[in-house]
Order: sequence, then C-alpha cells, then structure tokens
Amino acid sequence: MISKKYKSLSHIQEDLAKDKTSCVELAEYYIAQNKKHAGLNAVLEVFEEETLENAAAMDAKIKAGTAGRLAGMFLAIKDNICYQGHISSSSSKIIGNYEAVYTATALQRLLDEDAIVIARCNCDEFAMGASNENSAYGAVHNAADYSRVPGGSSGGSAVAVQADLCLAALGSDTGGSIRQPASFTGTIGIKPTYGRISRYGLLAYASSFDQIGPITSSIEDSALLTEIMAGKDEADATSSSTEVKIYKADLTKKYRISYSKEALESEGVSDGVRIAYTHLIEKLKQDGHTVEEKSFPYLDYMVPCYYVLTTAEASSNLSRYSGMLYGHRSTQANDIESTFKKSRSEGFGPEVKRRIMTGTFVLSADSYDAFYSKAQKVRRIIQRESNKILEEYDLFLCPTTPTVAFEIGGEHSKDPIAMYLADIFTVQAPLAGLPAISIPTEEENGLSIGMHFMSRAFAENDLFNIGEIVAKYYED
Ligand code: GLN
Repeated sequence: MISKKYKSLSHIQEDLAKDKTSCVELAEYYIAQNKKHAGLNAVLEVFEEETLENAAAMDAKIKAGTAGRLAGMFLAIKDNICYQGHISSSSSKIIGNYEAVYTATALQRLLDEDAIVIARCNCDEFAMGASNENSAYGAVHNAADYSRVPGGSSGGSAVAVQADLCLAALGSDTGGSIRQPASFTGTIGIKPTYGRISRYGLLAYASSFDQIGPITSSIEDSALLTEIMAGKDEADATSSSTEVKIYKADLTKKYRISYSKEALESEGVSDGVRIAYTHLIEKLKQDGHTVEEKSFPYLDYMVPCYYVLTTAEASSNLSRYSGMLYGHRSTQANDIESTFKKSRSEGFGPEVKRRIMTGTFVLSADSYDAFYSKAQKVRRIIQRESNKILEEYDLFLCPTTPTVAFEIGGEHSKDPIAMYLADIFTVQAPLAGLPAISIPTEEENGLSIGMHFMSRAFAENDLFNIGEIVAKYYED
C-alpha cells in the first residue's frame, strides 16, 4: 500500500490556511510521486511545468483571498476528456496526438473553481474494457500488486489516486468504468445519474450510457467534485436541469436498503467478495438500517443487453474516425475506400474492432429486430424493474465486482466473455440511467473489495451519505 499524503481537499486547505504547506510544495510532491511510480503506466503525460506555474499562481491567489473552492485540488484526467491545448486520445492510435480545441464543460467547471490538472491518465482504448489492457499505450498496473490489473476502463485514473499521483481523478463510466477500477484499487468512484453531468467534451463511446465522474480517496471530495461538475449545460442536450443539491452529511440517517439475492448466490462471486458482502449486510443491520433481500431476476440479461446496445452506439460514434476528417490516415491508401479500410485497420486496436463489428452486425437490416430492438426492450424492463425496487427502498446493494483484481494477461484477458462478465453488477445502473457508487470495504489477499450502492435518479447525496456511514465501519 502506498501511503497518501492527503486524503481530502479539506485537509489540504487547512494546511494551506495555516501555511503548513503551499500549492508549489504540493505540486512538487505530486510530480515527484509521478516520477517515482512511472512504472505503473497509469499516467501518459505529466504537465510538469504548467502545474508548477499554476501552483505558484494559486499560492498568490490564496494570499490575495481570491481563490476558488478547489484551491489545492491536484487533479488527473482520463485521456478521453478534452482539455484545450492538451492531447486527448482515448488511448487510441487512431487519434494519436490530437490536441483538444476546447475544454469539456465538466472539467471547465472544476478549473473555474481553481482545480489544477496535473496529468493525463491512461485508459482502455475508447473506454472499452474492464482491465486497462486495451490501451494503445500498454497495460496499467495495480499499485497493490503489479501483476494485477487496476480494472478498466478508467484504470489509469484509479491508480493515479491509489498511488497518490494526484488528489483526485476524473474518469468516465459507461458500464462500470469508474466503479470497477475504484473497487480494484480501494478508491471511491461514482457514476452519477445519466444527464447529471455534461458529456460535452467527453470522447463518446456509447452516448446513452456515458457519464463523467470522480475517483477519490474521500467521500467529501467525491461529493464536492460531483456538485461542481453537475447541472445543465446548453452544449449537451441530454444534460439535466434538475436542481443540484448541496451534500451535507447526516450520519444518523437510517436507510431502507435491499440487497441482491442473486449476487449472494451467484457462483461467479469469489469467497472473499461474498464474505465481505455478508459482513456489510450484517453491519448495516446492526447499525439500524432496514436491510432486506430482494430478487432481481434479470442478471443473466443485463450483460448481453448492455453489449448489444453499447456496441451499436459505438459503431455509430466511431464511424467518424475514417482517416478523412478525423483520425489517423494511412500512408498506404490510394483511394477513398482504401483510406477508410487501411486507416481504420491500422488505427483501432483489436477490442475496438471487435465492438465495431458487433455493433454494425446488430444494427444491420437482418439482425436489427432480433438484437437491437430486443435489447432496447430489455433495457426498458431493467429500467422499470430497477425503479420499482427503488420506490420501495432507498438503496440497492450488491458487490461492485464478482472478484478482486485479476491477473494481467490471465484468464480474463484471453476470454472476452469472461472479461465482459466482470461488469455483471455495474451495468444495471447505466442501463437504468441511475447513479451508483463503489465504496472500499475489506480485502482479499491484500486486494481491495468494493461494495456498490445504487440509488434513485438524482439522489447522489444518498450515495455519498451511505458511503460515509459505511466508511466508518472500516476505519481502523
Ligand atoms: N467494461 C465495460 C466495457 O468494456 C465498461 C466500460 C466503461 O464503462 N466505459 O464496456
């Protein structure tokens, strides 16, 4: 375990206020951490000079009393979030060294409150993966055990927080890409309600699922970053104007929680995860929450439904990278058709190709009704049934992942279906458009186990609150 200098922004700000540290000192610390742990391959680029300059400017702002709410926040961003004048490549060769011409709204809102972006993080190519082995820039290592994956697709972001390369990181989540790596790295990751945070400037994978969210070491930072990023954005028509409520902890609150019966009984769940799950259920009961078993008999349909819909959306979203207007252009091509073919063959990695082909197939005239329309109907049922549970209960609990972090290059990597099943518990929330959080609990062989709470739409504050309640059970 790499010990962390700070686990929350409020502690940094306390020390800044008492002159115990400065932003320049913090910048130097995080830059040194990045150098020391470069072997993790979590970060593709450290903005060293810029970070030092921004930190000096921030110290002056703090002295002048004009600093924003995020003064002292050293942030790393996933490689699929646009940051003007910086490379944003979704860890894909087809995008390569493209420099963003504008900044994603979510990130801009954090910059406006004086966050400093220190680094750009590795991820699975186009956010497709659950192990961060699909990056064009190589696999990311789990800092708790180099031979293990950090999860994906925001694996670099999660490890950046795990290894103290930054205070917090942004990831994106389509089917689990924030929560699953958070679970594998002992960090906190939230996927907000669909529409809570603008997707403007997030390189698209599956637009009806994608959401940006933070990975942090504390609930308070998760809540603060979410609150600042949230809210209507004219540049994203799917962003919601639902009021953004300020999070205030109420650790005395008692919740009505249902937990997944199927997760408890599923054969794919490891012993360590099952035991941690049972322990948490007991702890919640002892603490006075109403905790009841609930059957959600759609587990077998969720992963197939998710993969039909997301590959369909991906095949459409990624069609723009043809070597014409966007993306790498092959030097071997001599006409339009060979430009398309060769540029895409050279530029995309194997997993992205597999998904484009699957997506094109499920959308083709002969298969559309059998796959795409059917999956849309299944999604509706999952939405309806998830909401039904949440009419009766405040929260739905299950483990974040069936196992702890698996081996790099191991069984999962050889079998795409096994890899897809790593998402079994995380795809429900994005299929239903609901928010969900992963909270670290126990460990199995030194590897962290995350537990997963899903709440009603726009009830992120319940997730933060239960997160704080649960975190207390595991304080040593
Ligand atoms: N592992 C899932 C996938 O490969 C989730 C990815 C994500 O949320 N971006 O699609």
